[in-house]
Amino acid sequence: MVLLDGKKVANNLKKEIMEKVNKLDVKPGLAVICIGENSASKLYVTLKHKICEEIGINIEEYFFDNHVQQNELIELIDRLNHEETIHGILVQSPVPYHINILELFEKIAPEKDIDGFNPINVGKLSQGLNELAPCTPLGVMHLFKEYGIELEGKNCVVIGRSNIVGRPMAQLLINANATVTVCHSKTRNLADITKQADILIVAVGKANFITADMIKDNAVIIDVGINRKDDSKEIVGDVDFESVKNKCSYITPVPGGVGPMTIIMLMENVVKACENITK
Ligand code: NAD
Repeated sequence: MVLLDGKKVANNLKKEIMEKVNKLDVKPGLAVICIGENSASKLYVTLKHKICEEIGINIEEYFFDNHVQQNELIELIDRLNHEETIHGILVQSPVPYHINILELFEKIAPEKDIDGFNPINVGKLSQGLNELAPCTPLGVMHLFKEYGIELEGKNCVVIGRSNIVGRPMAQLLINANATVTVCHSKTRNLADITKQADILIVAVGKANFITADMIKDNAVIIDVGINRKDDSKEIVGDVDFESVKNKCSYITPVPGGVGPMTIIMLMENVVKACENITK
């Protein structure tokens, strides 16, 4: 079994992105909008801040309390869309219930939509154009490339159909000529399907959801899940790593697998957006 070391791959990629940034005439700029009192969101923004500083990306953070109104956020996005020093805009999720996040995504200029959630970019991805695609599935694709895992003609099963992970993951795999099945909470006989997978990508959000009896011998296992164990600080994935590791050919650890890839792909998307906007 080979561990897909996202931490190492992301570190190497970080150096490449830094070199790219050094060669640019302008400093890439990222605006992050964070709404509400969510401690996980604040942690993610802190992590983004740190890596932006390391790479040489300007980061502007906009924090709002739970009472902010939709129109205030739309006004901010509109202003940032026209701001020359800003090349990427993202809205940190989750947001409070009264905020319509899909409308916010729609308001972000497609060329600055570095999360790939604007309907224009979602549509382009479904047409086979990988312009600005969502970062977690992009990170998974990068791991496949880095470890020489062929996708063409492979049976890929994606569990989860969220806009952030499952759906764009399926699109990227189709675009790479894989045969793709998407499973979700209403899927029947899940194990019958997962046992057919050459490559199994799990994005459910339930600790130890996938066990060894649900996978095929030598399958490639990508564990996207991030779950807190018994309210402690320990993070576990959606895959029962201990049982599955003896049966699969490749597996991503949690932590240290998909997580570091997500944030580095965000950096890559900011630089890509900056290059496209300023060319
Ligand atoms: P989500 O809650 O939006 O989606 C979960 C999906 O799982 C849904 O589509 C649902 O249909 C499916 N599901 C739920 N129960 C199921 C069942 N019994 N059988 C089959 N499918 C089932 O979550 P999300 O945003 O896609 O995130 C999924 C997980 O990935 C979470 O743990 C999240 O924290 C993690 N995540 C990690 C990263 C990263 O960078 N590593 C990024 C995004 C999300």
